[in-house]
Amino acid sequence: METRTEISSLGEFGLIKRINSGIKTTLPDTIRGIGDDAAVIDTGEEFGLLSTDMLLEGVHFDLTFFPLKHLGYKAISVNVSDIAAMNGIPRQVTVNLALSNRFSLEAIDELYAGMKAACVDFNVDLVGGDTSSSRSGLLISVSVFGKVKKDKITYRNTAKANDLLCVTGDLGGAYLGLQLLEREKQVFLANPDMQPELEGKDYVIQRQLRPEARMDVIYELAEAGVLPTSMIDVSDGLASDLLHLCAQSGVGAVVFEERIPIDEQTYLAASELNIGPITAAMNGGEDYELLFTVSQASYDLIKNNPKISFIGYMTGDKEEIVLHTKGDSWVPITAQGWS
Ligand code: ADP
Ligand code: MG
Repeated sequence: METRTEISSLGEFGLIKRINSGIKTTLPDTIRGIGDDAAVIDTGEEFGLLSTDMLLEGVHFDLTFFPLKHLGYKAISVNVSDIAAMNGIPRQVTVNLALSNRFSLEAIDELYAGMKAACVDFNVDLVGGDTSSSRSGLLISVSVFGKVKKDKITYRNTAKANDLLCVTGDLGGAYLGLQLLEREKQVFLANPDMQPELEGKDYVIQRQLRPEARMDVIYELAEAGVLPTSMIDVSDGLASDLLHLCAQSGVGAVVFEERIPIDEQTYLAASELNIGPITAAMNGGEDYELLFTVSQASYDLIKNNPKISFIGYMTGDKEEIVLHTKGDSWVPITAQGWS
């Protein structure tokens, strides 16, 4: 009998590793293949960047509370985020859709209105795609092409011991926004007359429904004359994405809990839902902030930027990736992708 191995025995990261181990790139202009936020292609004067991300109904979004316009915006934004993570500028996107007859023309218009708004915000052109029918819900898959000057690219595998660890914006909000939306959905299903209780929660809801790729910070870093030594976007949670940086760079890290940026609304939602705010920041995901390292010499150049938090530093011991808690204990940082 043929052996059958469950995918769950590997998990997401193990699966990607396995796929990668069976793939060799051969072309001289393929500079970087699987393993970073975007593939890197030598286009002559500059590097081209190529990345793709899909959103699946029932897995990544629930249409009972996800407005199509926001969904369209998010589909573009999360792709742009991967270009930002390479210190690149996004240029063109293509859009693949699979839909059922459940969708009206007006619904598709809404979806595209959101995508167009994101294209304006991030200054990208929508240049193509593919459309198919679907028997199992809506699927949106976006690919993005970007570019970066060759000496300005930032990879995941180039963090150095003693570099400072930085993160943009704040963390944990997108996850708690999703938990609130799901709670309200359950309340509504139980009693359709109930009005949703989402007042004062606009920020965390927006973090879930309409994340903004941090291109603003990419431009500000360039203006400040700071080139990160490594970078990744926080799509899976701080823990998981920090572990990627560390593993690929062969370094360890110390993170100070008290320095992890968490918004006031995120704290409120966390206490209401009885979820630890640090857990949400560490393992929640979908914040689409940038996690990057800089040399200590860069500190003065960006220390006053309110969008950037210094949350720790990198160490030479790749076995030690630890959180220093507010209670003065040291906790190993561990994480998983979906399983
Ligand atoms: P991100 O969260 O930045 O989008 P992922 O964790 O999805 O990155 O993917 C990590 C790396 O693995 C990327 O380089 C991506 O292109 C690659 N990858 C993911 N899935 C596949 C796949 N099915 N086949 C080949 N490469 C993949
Ligand atoms: Mg990424």
